[in-house]
Amino acid sequence: MASRVINFSAGPAKLPTEVLERAQKEMLNYNGLGISVMELSHRSADFTKIITTAESDLRQLLNIPDNYKVIFKQGGGTGQFSAIPLNLMNFKPGGTADYLVTGTWSAKAAIEAEKYGKINKVVPKVSKYTSIPDPSTWNLNPEASYVYYCSNETIHGIEYQYIPETNGVPLVCDMSSNMLSRPFDVSKYGVIFAGAQKNVGCAGVTLVIIREDLIGHAMDTTPVIFDYKIQVGNNSVYNTAPTYNIYILGLVLQWLKDNGGAEKMEELSAVKSKAVYDIIDNSNGFYYSPLDKSCRSRMNVTFRIGCQEGDEALEKLFLSEAEKRGLISLKGHRAIGGIRASLYNALSVEECMALVTFMQDFLQKHQ
Ligand code: PMP
Repeated sequence: MASRVINFSAGPAKLPTEVLERAQKEMLNYNGLGISVMELSHRSADFTKIITTAESDLRQLLNIPDNYKVIFKQGGGTGQFSAIPLNLMNFKPGGTADYLVTGTWSAKAAIEAEKYGKINKVVPKVSKYTSIPDPSTWNLNPEASYVYYCSNETIHGIEYQYIPETNGVPLVCDMSSNMLSRPFDVSKYGVIFAGAQKNVGCAGVTLVIIREDLIGHAMDTTPVIFDYKIQVGNNSVYNTAPTYNIYILGLVLQWLKDNGGAEKMEELSAVKSKAVYDIIDNSNGFYYSPLDKSCRSRMNVTFRIGCQEGDEALEKLFLSEAEKRGLISLKGHRAIGGIRASLYNALSVEECMALVTFMQDFLQKHQ
């Protein structure tokens, strides 16, 4: 087997090696049962223990108040783009929702929500996403059923460094790409969701945290699979849950607890992202980030090489030389090109420093 490389993928992304080793060890014979978790009924006592432990670890890691419910669902982040309006659009009469569109993922969520109600775009439409407009300019509707935003736009590398103030209107957040990378006050939110495949597990399960009073307002036409009331009422096993994905998620949550939790992840993410941004900022424009510094993501560092628009030949060379050093999946999203280094929780400071050293060497050779 080729030795493991350093994976900067935006998702599905690197998992902690300890988690993979534990899953490997338990693959054929989980907990002395003589079968794999994949072969275990979602209603068995052993699986119930896996899912309840995952929930209580999540509650502990995020300090989730008692009036919030947790579900683990299929359908990905994209499934929640539909589930959110289906469950919440009619929370208030009028059926309107505010959307903060600051990148591709919030834009996609707004397009989906338009099928189910009236959408108010809180910030002006832009041709390129490079900043988050100041909250003083936001056009929030006090009658909206909810305010929606994406706390980390994975493609552009734009991250909110604060929780938006909505003056009592329920706040909904897509935290798919920065979940558990820092502590935050859950009580400021109505609903939080995150696909697991970046910071908390593998693809196939999405975690949703919902304030109790927001449950039970779903439209009559809501598919049963997306109805929060039904899913909460059945502890995520109304139908067959994505059992193995929940097991891996549980192992990652355990790993997070063993490694200092969200507080430690915040500290490490600051060290990792600063090291990469410092190289960019001190490269005399050789590496170029178009983003406003106040919203640079700690999770997905995006940049161009050679000039502001990016010298594609040089970027190609960067990617192939990086790969020779065992640094993989650094190619930017096809929608915007360039380079993207994803520095999620499972990526260690040492692994990030291998990229930093490579960037330094590449700069010296080609500037
Ligand atoms: N939201 C964000 C922030 C994402 O990065 C992604 C996927 N990369 C999605 C939503 C969509 O998630 P999924 O592919 O699981 O539907």
